[in-house]
Amino acid sequence: MLALCITCGTQFAGSDAPPEACPICQDERQYVPPEGQSWTTLEELRASHRAEIREEEPGLTGIGAEPTFAIGQRALLVQAPGGNVLWDCTSLLDDEITARVEELGGIAAISISHPHYYSSMVEWAEAFDAPIYLHAADREWVMRPSDHIIFWEEETRELGPGLTLVRCGGHYQGGTVLHWAAGAEARGALLSGDIVQVIPDRSYVSFMYSYPNLIPLGEQAIRRIVAALEPFEFERIHGAWWGRVVPADGKAAVTRSAERYLKAIRT
Ligand SMILES: [Zn+2]
Ligand SMILES: [Zn+2]
Repeated sequence: MLALCITCGTQFAGSDAPPEACPICQDERQYVPPEGQSWTTLEELRASHRAEIREEEPGLTGIGAEPTFAIGQRALLVQAPGGNVLWDCTSLLDDEITARVEELGGIAAISISHPHYYSSMVEWAEAFDAPIYLHAADREWVMRPSDHIIFWEEETRELGPGLTLVRCGGHYQGGTVLHWAAGAEARGALLSGDIVQVIPDRSYVSFMYSYPNLIPLGEQAIRRIVAALEPFEFERIHGAWWGRVVPADGKAAVTRSAERYLKAIRT
């Protein structure tokens, strides 16, 4: 079987029995529920969930599951002339998703912000014959190894014209965001996962070492994130979940949010 962790949505390598534990959930950036670890499979997930696919803005399509599963993120398909990029990933991959993604031009490359969204990445890579770009600093969290995975080690990496992976660190050592220059009507968009977290009022963001355990990041980590993003212009920030979008003034939102955060952790 290829076990899927119900709490974080990660698919594991093939085994005769479910794994004894999920290292991603045992880590203090996730959690193990009081009733313990439990498992499903992609086949079971296809029976209990359906695809949720919505356009987020022209050239950007959100792909998630209904009802939500595990951490509840939705992936984002960026349509680009040089080849589409799937940003972040989800556990559910079914015929409806496959058909829609093919209609939108397929997937030339997959990249994922951090291990909480590795989910069923190898299923996606095999279905679309696409490489998966993961930051090498997080390689220990890959639970299903694959020849499709390319570990990159730099601080930035171009996936195509106007599509740049930026390593910010923070939540995870290899925590990555994707800068999409053509996004937001060419004013630039940041696809930020949990690395730059869009909060409910949609005019600020935040940053954490652990979200479920409410463990903040320190000053050095916050300054590093702001510095990594400094060379990039972006109007909009697309966070990890439906509706978590900073519609305008995104870069200034990151700056003012970092200042607010630093003031809070100093007092
Ligand atoms: Zn897990
Ligand atoms: Zn996370």
